Amino acid sequence: MTPKEVLAHIRQREVTTVDFRFMDFPGVWQHFSIPADALTEETFEEGIAFDGSSVVGWRAINEADLLVVPQPETALVDPFTAQPTLTMICNIHDPITHQDYTRDPRNIARKAVSYMRSLGVADRFMLAPELEFFIFDDVRYAQNQHEAFYHVDSVEGAWNRGRAEQPNLGYKPVSGLGYFPCPPTDSLVNLRTEMSQRLAECGIKTAAHFHEVATGGQCEIDLDSQDLVESADQVMMARYIIRNVARNSGKTATFMPKPLYGDNGSGMHTHLTLWKNDEPLLAGTGYGTLSDLGLYAIGGLLKHAPALCAFANPTTNSYKRLIEGFEAPTKLSYSRRNRAAIVRIPVSGASPRSRRIEYRCPDSAANPYLLFSAMLMAVVDGIQNKIRPGDPLDKDIYDLKPEELARVPTTPRTLTASLEALRADHDFLLRGDVFTPDIIDTWIWYKISNEIEALRVRPHPYEFALYYDI
Ligand code: GLN
Ligand code: MG
Ligand code: MG
Ligand code: MG
Repeated sequence: MTPKEVLAHIRQREVTTVDFRFMDFPGVWQHFSIPADALTEETFEEGIAFDGSSVVGWRAINEADLLVVPQPETALVDPFTAQPTLTMICNIHDPITHQDYTRDPRNIARKAVSYMRSLGVADRFMLAPELEFFIFDDVRYAQNQHEAFYHVDSVEGAWNRGRAEQPNLGYKPVSGLGYFPCPPTDSLVNLRTEMSQRLAECGIKTAAHFHEVATGGQCEIDLDSQDLVESADQVMMARYIIRNVARNSGKTATFMPKPLYGDNGSGMHTHLTLWKNDEPLLAGTGYGTLSDLGLYAIGGLLKHAPALCAFANPTTNSYKRLIEGFEAPTKLSYSRRNRAAIVRIPVSGASPRSRRIEYRCPDSAANPYLLFSAMLMAVVDGIQNKIRPGDPLDKDIYDLKPEELARVPTTPRTLTASLEALRADHDFLLRGDVFTPDIIDTWIWYKISNEIEALRVRPHPYEFALYYDI
């Protein structure tokens, strides 16, 4: 849609409210609304000022104002609001220079695509993410329904609420056995179908949806392949839709990477392809019917794998997923069939156009703009510098002898280790000014101070089991 078409659409659909969406630095979608008649053609040029100091990881208070500039091609009518509301995803501009704001993740994503094109490596980098998530009962909903009296006003309150909740002693399919059986075992099919319909109404094509392996409640919805920025936009919209459909049914959806100890976690495996003049660049006659370029792309992902984890697995909880025994990838290697390798070449039909690479590290705690940009920069480095990926890992990893296993390097074991890897290895991200040193420093600072340190100083529930009676 053009700005004019957006304004016409607003009149046609009797939209009363326009909602602006943008991505903060850590990866949470932010929004604010204006009355629909306040939106003019100029808004698309000039943007609207807002206080950027209160957005996590952005400006200091003394230079707070930033401009949000709505992108008309992202306009759609929100399926959840009570009043007809048109939402648009926005870019962020500096109010003095009117240039793109360097810490806006969407700006970084747009720069990554321009950089790839400027090198002539490829003209399209396309991604198809697989969204895994858990559906749990919504205690807030239960609270209204049963007039329970938990007082929830903080993280601590939420924890107390969790304790006050009655245990669910009813039958649930155990881990592994809920994967793929038809309803009634799969009790969430209607919810996922509704999610897929809402996604389709918002222009987001899905490939498939199904119950995942973990105990009753883990689901997966796979998105179709899109260009980098569009794919990241769709991930954000999809998370919004999935959460809201769940909430409206008295459930919650969580993308937390490892909510349950001892069961599979939720990943965001991402399939990628590269194109030039509409020709697929990954297909060839090498391993996995990949081209040299395809193998170099894998070489780049493997060479920078520990640093990439700082964006692919950006929470302390992410490393509770990246462990052996739960189908999550841990081995810094690639394979046609071994899912413990961080890169897999899926079986994908005879057509060269369907050849793709699956990068299995990411989880949905990732900021998709930063993650996809970092992946592209690693892939470009692999291609530019002809980085060979070494030998594939073609033995079932869990059958390898301990000595053999020890020789295959693993994903970092903690967020601290990934951030250290990023500190040591980020020159590939700075090329073409795609990422700036300020972004790398702010990311590392934010993650250490707000997450790692915040967790370190809090008594952990499991410490009570270990130490209470010591
Ligand atoms: N949920 C698993 C992960 O954490 C993967 C299971 C699968 O999709 N094969 O990556
Ligand atoms: Mg899958
Ligand atoms: Mg899956
Ligand atoms: Mg997968």
